[in-house]
Amino acid sequence: MAEEKKRRAVATQTAAGIPKFVRGNLAATLKAKEEGKKVAKAFIHDGQDEIMRAMDIVPAWGESFSGVCAAKRDAEKYLQKAESDNFSRSLCTYATCHIGFEMIREELGGVMPEGAPWGGMGRPDMILGNGQLLCDPRFKWPQALQHYLRDVPVFVTNMYYPPWDPNIDHHEQEGFYVKYCTEELHETVRFCERVTGKKMDWDRLAAIVELSDKTWDLFVDTYDLRKTIPTPMDTGDAMNTMVPITFNIGTQEAYDFYVELNKELKQKIAQGTGVANPEKYRIIWAAGLPSWFALSDFQYFNSKGAVFPVEVTYRDHEKIERLDLPKTDDPLEHIAWRWVRYWTHWYDAARKLPGSTPKVARIIEYIGDYKCDGVVFHSAFSCRSWHAGIIHQAEVLRKVYGDIPILIMEGDIVDISSYNEADTHNRIDAFIETLDAYKNRRKG
Ligand code: SF4
Repeated sequence: MAEEKKRRAVATQTAAGIPKFVRGNLAATLKAKEEGKKVAKAFIHDGQDEIMRAMDIVPAWGESFSGVCAAKRDAEKYLQKAESDNFSRSLCTYATCHIGFEMIREELGGVMPEGAPWGGMGRPDMILGNGQLLCDPRFKWPQALQHYLRDVPVFVTNMYYPPWDPNIDHHEQEGFYVKYCTEELHETVRFCERVTGKKMDWDRLAAIVELSDKTWDLFVDTYDLRKTIPTPMDTGDAMNTMVPITFNIGTQEAYDFYVELNKELKQKIAQGTGVANPEKYRIIWAAGLPSWFALSDFQYFNSKGAVFPVEVTYRDHEKIERLDLPKTDDPLEHIAWRWVRYWTHWYDAARKLPGSTPKVARIIEYIGDYKCDGVVFHSAFSCRSWHAGIIHQAEVLRKVYGDIPILIMEGDIVDISSYNEADTHNRIDAFIETLDAYKNRRKG
């Protein structure tokens, strides 16, 4: 096994409970196999979570598993296995790490590969996916996986939402997209009913969707507490505290987690306890999945007095009232409205700033609300969907803010081979100097 990185310390007690969540999610897939429950290989932010929870289908999160392998610096053997069957290193390493793991398990006749991180993940009985409009691996990963798991049925939707076009008012189109997404979700239910042999309990689904909405609201209210100076929690912790809302939405455990986090952040604010002491610079993490094997880089920023009170990554939720969702008795239509209205939430703001995009409009909103002095992006080379457009976003921000310091870090989510800690810290040092000069200029 590769050398395991010492776990990064977290600023909040609540975030320290996250490994239990992640382990619990992996263990649930193994327990499901013993109990005869169905396991679905699932993808985050696909709109299918509540359907799985209502039908007692246990999600096996490939991205999470690959992230754990990366954090333990133990992904290389799986990446190499996938590479041995011609999966290029430049493909999504969440996908190739997980595919490599499943390849090894199939070669072992279904036996868990020795040393699989945290006990490994249960073999799926189905693969559920959603292309999310923009991600090729979300279509090809299920297909590639089925090449090795021949008996496992695949169902991939797309859950379209109106694509960004500054000249088109998406409000005129959204009803059509909601109808399409609703039908895709109904088709997902029919697929799950066929595989599980069980009927959907619609009342149970409605209750789960209601709990999800409550969790969305609590999550946003809790993260808004980070506007406080000094901020009581930064992105280093948020890369952990995203777990319940990302992987456990629709469960009481996820809701209760944010009740605890909310309480702890309020206590810290009352005591004036911040992440950095003193807090000198506030930075937005404007885009990019993190390098899971190098989360301690956040602490390096903190050691320089720099904090990230806000990030775009994994903050894929808004206050439900701000989305102004039309009333419906169909919980799947509600999910579809929430989906379409969330992904188009910054379209109106972007239209008011010629040359902008919704992603930039969102960053601008956060820079103002969280009083940020600088911007950091992370460009993960193996994810070309979520990381596309970073340079353009930086250019638009420069037009809006002039000389605001912007750092674009380059790396990967899982593949450690191109990472060099000393070089990364040198780049951070140079960025902090620029931030310092920028702040002094603004004061003067
Ligand atoms: S969005 Fe990026 S990281 Fe996620 S599955 Fe697609 S390519 Fe991989």
